Order: sequence, then C-alpha cells, then structure tokens
Amino acid sequence: PKTAYVRTKPHLNIGTMGHVDHGKTTLTAAITKVLAERGGGTFVPFDRIDKAPEEALRGITINIAHVEYETDTRHYAHVDMPGHADYVKNMVTGAAQLDGAILVVSALDGIMPQTAEHVLLARQVGVDHIVVAINKADAGDEELTDLVELEVRELLSAHGYGGDSVPVVRVSGLKALDGDPRWTASIEALLDAVDTYVPMPERYVDAPFLLSVENALTITGRGTVVTGAVERGTIEVGDRVEVLGAEIETVVTGLETFGKPMDSAQAGDNVALLLRGVPRDAVRRGYVVAAPGSVTSARRFSAHVYVLSAKEGGRTTPIGSGYRPQFYIRTADVVGDIDLGELAVARPGDTVTMTVELGRDVPLQPGLGFAIREGGRTVGAGTVTEVIG
Ligand code: GDP
Ligand code: MG
Repeated sequence: PKTAYVRTKPHLNIGTMGHVDHGKTTLTAAITKVLAERGGGTFVPFDRIDKAPEEALRGITINIAHVEYETDTRHYAHVDMPGHADYVKNMVTGAAQLDGAILVVSALDGIMPQTAEHVLLARQVGVDHIVVAINKADAGDEELTDLVELEVRELLSAHGYGGDSVPVVRVSGLKALDGDPRWTASIEALLDAVDTYVPMPERYVDAPFLLSVENALTITGRGTVVTGAVERGTIEVGDRVEVLGAEIETVVTGLETFGKPMDSAQAGDNVALLLRGVPRDAVRRGYVVAAPGSVTSARRFSAHVYVLSAKEGGRTTPIGSGYRPQFYIRTADVVGDIDLGELAVARPGDTVTMTVELGRDVPLQPGLGFAIREGGRTVGAGTVTEVIG
C-alpha cells in the first residue's frame, strides 16, 4: 500500500522562471538532491524533470513538471517548465498557482528577453514574491556577476518588486548536483531565502470548494481522475461535487497528492481527484470541479483590461470592437468577442473597460483574472468586474 500524505508543515507552491538555458531544470534537480540528503524528499534527476510527460489536450500541449520537497519549516510543490510558451500558458491561466517564484538568471548572460517577460508575467498574475538565483556562478567572473545582480535588481524594481530588498543568491545548480560542498551550501542559502522571504499566503479554506481542471485522464478499472490545484475550500473523500463544463454531479471517491493518498485536501494543495462514474472523456482541461451550487457559469462579463505594449510582447496595432481573441480563464481557453462600447479602439499600453462574450459558459466571478492571447502570444491581461449572464 502507498504511504499516506501527512500534513506536518505548511504547504506552498513555487516554481523556477527565467530565460531558456539559464539552468532552471538543473537547479530544480539540485534542490531535490540537496534536500533529499537531509531527508526532505526524493532526488529527482534532470531527465525526469525535463522529460515530464507531455499532455496534449484540445490541441494545447502543456508541459509542466511538478516535484515536491520539504525544508525544515515547509512543504513545497515546485513547478518547472521547459519552454517560454509553457510559462505563458500555465502562469496566466493560474494552472501554476505560484505563491512565490525563483527567478533564475545566468551569471554568464545576465537578463535576457524571457527573464524580463517572466517578471512581467509574474506581476500580472499576482506572484508577489520573487527570490533571485544567479546561477552558473561557478563559471562566472565575480565583477560581471556583480553587474548582473545590479541589473536584476533594477528589473525587479521597475516591475514593483522592491529590487533592493529581494534576496539574490549566487548558486551553481550544476556543481551542487556534483556534490561540491561550496555550491551545495549555495542551494541551502537559496532555500533559506525562499523559506524566509516568501510569506505563507492566505488560503481560503472556509470558502466552497473549487478546483480548475489542469488535466483529466481515465484509469482503467478506477474511473476518471482530474488533477489541479485547489483554488479554495476543502475536500474530503465522499464529498459531492459538481463538474461545470460537463454538467454532472458526482462523488469524490479518492484523493491523492504526489501519488500519496490523503483524506482531505485544502486550498493551495495540488491534487488528483478520483470521480465516481464519470464517463471517459467527459471531463477536460478547463472544466471546474466545485461544491454543488456554489458557482455559476456565464458567457458575458465586463472587465478591466490592460492591453500589452509592443515592448512587453503585445500587439503593435490597436484592437477594436469585434476583435475575437482567445481568453485564458483559470485553466480554460475559450474564444471571445470584445465590445469596447463608445470607445473606438484600445491601443497597446492602454487600460480599458470592455464587455466580453465568450464562446461557451465558464464559471466567472468579479475579481477573477484572465489573459487574452492571439496567435501564440499574450496581448492583454484583465480582471472580471461584473458577470452579466
Ligand atoms: P533551463 O533551460 O533553464 O532549464 O536550463 P538547463 O537546466 O537545461 O541548463 C542549460 C545548460 O546550462 C545545461 O547545459 C546545463 O548543464 C548548464 N548549467 C546549468 N546550471 C549550471 C551551473 O550552475 N553552472 C554551469 N557552469 N552550467 C550550468
Ligand atoms: Mg528546463
């Protein structure tokens, strides 16, 4: 039998961000190695993180690797993603509900385009705390690394992260993986910075249960399993739930986190829910599992939207009424028509009010964040202000 998950420490979700090849995956592997040696989890080698199974659902390929580990004071779920597009998809949709992030910057290269884009994305999706790992410090020249540090602090300040107070730790994921004591200590220092600098977020455990489905699969002989992060509330084996999107009511017959069974899960946990009697392929990414009757779906809403500037990777030309991009809401990806009302156009860099009509009903509530995407890039970020129906 599998060992049950025992909740002994507060749980947080973090992840590595940063430009391709700056060492995110190497660092992730190194963290698991250093902590495994202290009894804080299992070592996950580079190849197991980098070759996480690809999930192709509804034509969107999602690549996300989850590893778990424990420091002295906390239990962490850590996500690492291979490509820039995976960051955009998972961060803007909230699939990777990060309580904090480790920004990985190579001491050899400094800030690169994706470094800046990930900081911007983190700001947009409400990641309030970033810790910086200047990686490859083993190979970098000290004076140059000082400059890289200065540059990163400036970038963070420019995005409202208080760059002067953000912890910046010089590390070498590669040397720590080799067992080099100096660089093993650098990983410990990084983890201490995460433990102390990233505060425990408020969890809405008293609210009705809600989980946005990140992935759904059918396991022969067991039924349909959905995975995702619990957005709010708690859930226990035996609880009734509603699946919005599939419009079915069912019962949770099993609950797991990182392959370990658990009796109850709460806001912030990454879980797999086994659902009784749900037909194969009835549930997909983007559907919502919630306490029955606790949420309503709608397709029309008004919103405040920030149209990204060209410099931020957005459009170079304005948008107008009749524009029909994709809306990423929680884990859902839905087409929508926009109406700017009296306003003729919204230019890149503008913040505007708009009415949106989605292609299908989606659970909505005021305050819910979303991203607007077009042809593989993010062109806007918004918040629902009113659900119309
Ligand atoms: P990712 O794309 O950000 O996940 O980067 P990877 O972890 O795949 O690393 C990219 C390359 O940088 C690989 O060849 C690594 O071996 C190398 N690398 C990663 N960390 C370090 C480090 O700390 N020092 C040195 N010298 N090389 C590193
Ligand atoms: Mg990688």
